[in-house]
This record gives sequence, structure tokens and C-alpha cells, in this order.
Amino acid sequence: MKITILTIFPEMFTPLHESILGRAQKAGLLDIREVDIRAYAKNKHHNTDDAPYGGGAGMVMLAQPIVDAMRDVQGEAFAGRRIYLSPRGQTLTQKKVEELATLPELILLCGHYEGVDQRAIDLCIDEEISIGDYVLTGGELGAMVLVDAVARLIPGGLGCGARAQTESFSSGLLEYPQYTRPREFEGLTVPEPLLNGNHAHIEDWQLTESLYITLKRRPEMAKAYLSGRKFTRHQKKVVDAVLERVRAEEAGDEP
Ligand code: SAM
Repeated sequence: MKITILTIFPEMFTPLHESILGRAQKAGLLDIREVDIRAYAKNKHHNTDDAPYGGGAGMVMLAQPIVDAMRDVQGEAFAGRRIYLSPRGQTLTQKKVEELATLPELILLCGHYEGVDQRAIDLCIDEEISIGDYVLTGGELGAMVLVDAVARLIPGGLGCGARAQTESFSSGLLEYPQYTRPREFEGLTVPEPLLNGNHAHIEDWQLTESLYITLKRRPEMAKAYLSGRKFTRHQKKVVDAVLERVRAEEAGDEP
């Protein structure tokens, strides 16, 4: 997958070239490039922003350098998605991340200051995406979040692609707790079902814990999971036991 990031701060993107993402790029699975919008500014001082029409605080990024950079980067036969990171966009979800990971190419536009001249968005953006209901100083951190989440779904990029299916959000539930050695740490032990090697018991425990934690922390997500799924008779028993446990806790029943 090819990802190009249009930014006035290309030096901010070092983290995208380290660790797992760095290895994926070295292995040729991923191509991440930063393009400096400033290099496309046609005015004398290579300015990329100006005061807003209608007045108000702050500066607005000029349309011309953005549109020229986009056209240069996308070339003739662009078959990917051009995204503007923006607090006005749809909030990024794992479902959206999964959709973006199927595309051959992404171009991400990072705004700064008060944002971007609307005409740049009208001319060369397919979709606006927000990383959450808060306002950042620039789109760079948002772009990094999006790239990190998408890149780890590229087959081979994680080194363990199948695992992504059992993780929080992909499965429809939050993930169960994870443990590694030693068996006991500061008096806390690893739950017994994870130690006995019985895969059926392990799966029951994982479903129980995932459902429990999701019911407690994200009840709306648990509700969607329970209503949209067919369970085997055995799984139904496991699910009913968790529902009863939560009901009893909420009612304040003695264990
Ligand atoms: N004036 C804009 C508004 O009220 O919607 C906010 C501009 S913000 C200070 C500057 C840039 O940061 C935006 O152009 C956008 O690229 C980025 N940004 C801010 N919050 C974001 C968020 N939640 N998700 C994605 N990008 C964001």
C-alpha cells in the first residue's frame, strides 16, 4: 500500500518510519512518503497561509499549494482515497480502518492553523476524517493515528495478520485480558483456564471476559454484538452466564 502525506511539517513523521511500520516499509509491504506542501507555494516567500476572508482569528491554508501538491502526487490514474484530517469529518472507527486498508493508495492532507481554504477541499478531497471529538493544532498527529491503524491490517505488516481478527473492535467486542510469564506476579496469578491447555476452556474464558468487559465499559457495543450474532447452544450458555453475572452485580446481589 502506498500512503502519501501532504503536510507543512514533514519532519514530524519520524515515528511512522520506526518499529513495526518501519519494518513493513523495509520489507516492501508499505510505502509511506511525506510531501512538503510549502515546496508547491508559488508566492515569493513560499507562504502557505493567509488571513481569512470575513475576518476572525488565525490563518487559513492557501488552496493553490495544496491543490498543486495533490495533483502532482496523485498523477493520472489515481485509484485510492484522498482524505483531509479534520475535526468536521466522520470519526475514525475500526470499520473505516478496515475499509481503508483494502485500498491500494491513500493521500492524507494535514491542515494547520484555522484549517484549509474550502476550495482545496472541494477540488481534491474525497473524504474528511476526524480522529475524535477534540481539536488538535494540526492534522499531522491525526494522520499518524490513521496510518498506524491502517498499516497494521496490511497482510504481513503485523507479522501476525490473523490476530487482528480477535482484537478489540474487529471481533465486535473489546479484547479479553492478556497474560504472559510468570504465572504469579506480586501475588496475582494467571487465570486457571489459560494454563490447562484445553482450547475449549480457553475459548469459553476469552468469550466470557470479552463480553463482560464490553458490557461494563461499552454497553452499546455489547448490545450490537449480542443482537447481531448467532450462537451455538454452548456459546449461548456462556453468554447467559455473563449476562446473569452482570445483572447480579448491578442488582447488588451477594456473590
Ligand atoms: N478551525 C477548525 C475547526 O474549528 O474545525 C480547527 C482547525 S485545527 C486547529 C487545525 C488542523 O488540525 C485542522 O485543519 C485539521 O487538519 C487538524 N485537526 C484538528 N483536530 C482534528 C481532529 N479531531 N481530527 C483530525 N484532524 C484534526
